[in-house]
Amino acid sequence: MEPATSIARLGFRKWYERQLIDSHACFVTCFLAMLMVAIAIEQVQILALGFEALVDLGLVVVFMILGVVSWRRYHRVLGTAEYYAEYSYCPQCKAYGLFRVTNSGRMQNVDEQRAGDAAEGRVWMNVTCKKCQHSWRMPH
Ligand SMILES: [Zn+2]
Repeated sequence: MEPATSIARLGFRKWYERQLIDSHACFVTCFLAMLMVAIAIEQVQILALGFEALVDLGLVVVFMILGVVSWRRYHRVLGTAEYYAEYSYCPQCKAYGLFRVTNSGRMQNVDEQRAGDAAEGRVWMNVTCKKCQHSWRMPH
């Protein structure tokens, strides 16, 4: 059950770092895909519509799909990382990201999910602070 299992295995800080790397790799992929779309459009010779023009148009479509998929993944991964980062401060000692996951589960209904969240696949986690042993639930 992601991301609880990854956070439990890696620790929050390492998980968060990996999410940022993943999301920004997707952002760069999207940017490069859009450059390739521009290059492929430049190569298309509509007047001489033949096999090469169809290949160039196919490349435009492929790079556009890659760009859109990368952009959506960038937003999803970064949004999830920011969502859990918001709750990763210990309410008692204010330590950031120093907790271990003790229990987790998938959010069942709309009441458990915050309004405005892209809450698909969100999970709750019961966590314990490694510094002061205080326990809280994410999101709280
Ligand atoms: Zn604490």
